[in-house]
Amino acid sequence: MSIILSGDRPTGKLHLGHYVGSLRRRVELQSDRNNQMFIMIADSQALTDNFNDINKVRNNIKEVALDYLSCGLDPNVSTIYIQSLIPELCELTFYYMNLVTVSRLQRNPTVKTEIKLRGFKQSVPVGFFTYPISQAADITAFKAEIVPVGNDQLPMIEQAREIVRSFNTLYDNILVEPTALLPKNEACSRLPGIDGNAKMSKSLGNCIYLSDTPDEISKKIKSMYTDPSHIRVSDPGHLENNTVFTYLDAFCEDKHFASFLPQYNNLDELKQHYQKGGLGDSVVKKFLNEILQQELAPIREKRMEYSKNLDYVFSILKSGSEKAQSIAAQTLDSVKKAMGIKYF
Ligand code: ATP
Ligand code: MG
Repeated sequence: MSIILSGDRPTGKLHLGHYVGSLRRRVELQSDRNNQMFIMIADSQALTDNFNDINKVRNNIKEVALDYLSCGLDPNVSTIYIQSLIPELCELTFYYMNLVTVSRLQRNPTVKTEIKLRGFKQSVPVGFFTYPISQAADITAFKAEIVPVGNDQLPMIEQAREIVRSFNTLYDNILVEPTALLPKNEACSRLPGIDGNAKMSKSLGNCIYLSDTPDEISKKIKSMYTDPSHIRVSDPGHLENNTVFTYLDAFCEDKHFASFLPQYNNLDELKQHYQKGGLGDSVVKKFLNEILQQELAPIREKRMEYSKNLDYVFSILKSGSEKAQSIAAQTLDSVKKAMGIKYF
């Protein structure tokens, strides 16, 4: 049996990056009944850089839950819960804070990138700065062994592993070191934004959302960044940093050629033609559009069904949070025992 944990910040609806980076894998892992899966909506973490916009975080809890359910996460198999309903996570974080130095956090590459991205400069909120420690609490509270993530999260998992090792060495060997599970395909590890930016991210506004309408999807694909030197159809095209081809790497299968572009057998043939010249961006974009429309239509339909029954959605979050809380309480109890601070 493996214990698997993953989560998302309720800072917006979920997008294609989440889907290929982690969601699709979670649905796959869920189908193995030997796995025990925890899925957290990280509202407390989202507050660390959105504390001045509580409504954004609050409203997006529902949106993320709808995205989960419409992608096929099954609340009868996976425990879906809200981070702030598990106060034990804060207590664990507080003890783990002693095991991490300020300079180690400053060296964390994800923290560095995100501080820059958010324009904090010298005014980084302490809560934001320390969120990798709370993420270690989120993971270890459930003794999670596997964490399916995109590659922006690797430094976070490494930080969690270090905390576990320090704790186990100092006190008692009770915490489990987590392992990151990256997507099989590199394009999926960090899907770029439609603007060609290195990462599709809610905060950068360069996303195709799972809930976008067919019209929004095709408009966004038409506006996508390709090869700026590919001006005439006859010009040779480049694949490096060509977002449309990166998306094809993430989504395209041979069967899609038979359905939508039968003059080619596979993606390699299409790429070769593009590089040679004589293949227009509009043909490639149209092909990507067909694939994404087909992939996202059933998700959108399910989402519409669930959004008619929000009471049901909230009841899932409530019972998931109760279950998660009782498990985190057991871990906290053994952590305190290991540290020798259970006084009575
Ligand atoms: P924010 O901008 O608020 O940080 P985000 O878009 O980065 O939002 P998160 O909630 O931080 O999304 O990430 C949730 C999960 O999705 C993480 O496992 C992360 O690695 C993965 N993920 C996010 N964006 C991408 C992406 N573009 N490609 C692959 N995986 C991604
Ligand atoms: Mg993020």
